[in-house]
Amino acid sequence: MSETPQQPRAAREPEAPETRARAEIDLGALRANVRALRARVAPRGAQVMGVVKADAYGHGAVPCARAALAAGATWLGTATPYEALALRAAGIDAPVLCWLWTPGGPFRAAVEADVDIAVSGLWALGEVTDAARAAGRPARVQLKADTGLGRNGCLPGDWPRLVGEALKAQAEGLLRVTGLWSHFACADEPGHPSIAAQLDRFHDMLEYAEKAGAEPEVRHMANSPATLTLPDAYFDLVRAGVAMYGISPSPEVGAPADFGLRPVMRLSASVASVKQAPPGLGISYGHHYVTDRETNLALVPLGYADGVPRHASGSGPVLLGGALRTVAGRVAMDQIVLDLGADVVEPGARAVLFGPGDDGEPTAEDWARAAGTIAYEIVTRVGARVPRVYLRERE
Ligand SMILES: *Cc1c(COP(=O)(O)O)cnc(C)c1O
Repeated sequence: MSETPQQPRAAREPEAPETRARAEIDLGALRANVRALRARVAPRGAQVMGVVKADAYGHGAVPCARAALAAGATWLGTATPYEALALRAAGIDAPVLCWLWTPGGPFRAAVEADVDIAVSGLWALGEVTDAARAAGRPARVQLKADTGLGRNGCLPGDWPRLVGEALKAQAEGLLRVTGLWSHFACADEPGHPSIAAQLDRFHDMLEYAEKAGAEPEVRHMANSPATLTLPDAYFDLVRAGVAMYGISPSPEVGAPADFGLRPVMRLSASVASVKQAPPGLGISYGHHYVTDRETNLALVPLGYADGVPRHASGSGPVLLGGALRTVAGRVAMDQIVLDLGADVVEPGARAVLFGPGDDGEPTAEDWARAAGTIAYEIVTRVGARVPRVYLRERE
């Protein structure tokens, strides 16, 4: 097993690796998850796009992108253009789709880097064609349909105009329409009536564009929940984010293990202090927890600056000293306190906030429940101050 500590922001001295806390990223698990997703969609002729936006949901974009490609993902997806360009700067030349643009782009850099640009409206098409002229080469453009998400994408009423203008620019050699795609609103609620309605609308919008002359390389709609529950949504490609990191999109969809998926991230910290406390001691800001007996308290040096949700004050679960504990009182910026009762641990003992669950530690889904949020947010918010340590980088 190889371990490479990676410093996300501040440089750390290699001879003094940080002991406080770490997020271990099991790239072997990530590769196995990608293989499981491929096995699910390949019989329908679909490929897998590994979605690595938001620093790969907090796991580290470049190492995760490389691992996803090594396991057979053929595309990568990002939200912002700088996320896409960072993959290119790292030497990754696989197809990349980038879908969240604002005026000013940078469109020309994306065209020159061969990044597929998602276009939802005419302003973006105008900037893309200007960038292609300036770059002296055609842009790769994927037209995005709003089939009922009500967020980004082109609504059906505006689709004929957008498709028409894009195909005109294609005829002028300024771009190639490489993809037609859309995104679900409620795929994490299997059976929600909007799912079938969005699929129907996507078929109509595809048919319109293809009759008008579009010959896309890929048509795609499925995110993780659709990849796990809805084969009719596979088309040519599925865009898998959270499932690739071994996390279930929602309790309704099922548990990761139901789909052969294993959590990739394990967040832990080294206990900073242990002390015996009398009854009646108020714990942490606001004194929302007060000891009711003589007890042992452990200080865990992770707080909301590290992504521990403050909404999990008094409810977040932590494995320490062989038992599950609950955060006592408020989550502070840098620290949480656990009440161990009669148990004792030594400073330096490992407190595990979440991981795959093998040793009885909580999962990201458990933290999501404790904080009233979704597991996506739990892993994505793990802060830049927590070093990522990569395990099983090679097969
Ligand atoms: C984030 C995102 C995805 C991936 O969603 P998951 O549910 O994490 O698989 C796919 N497509 C788009 C457009 C996204 O923004």
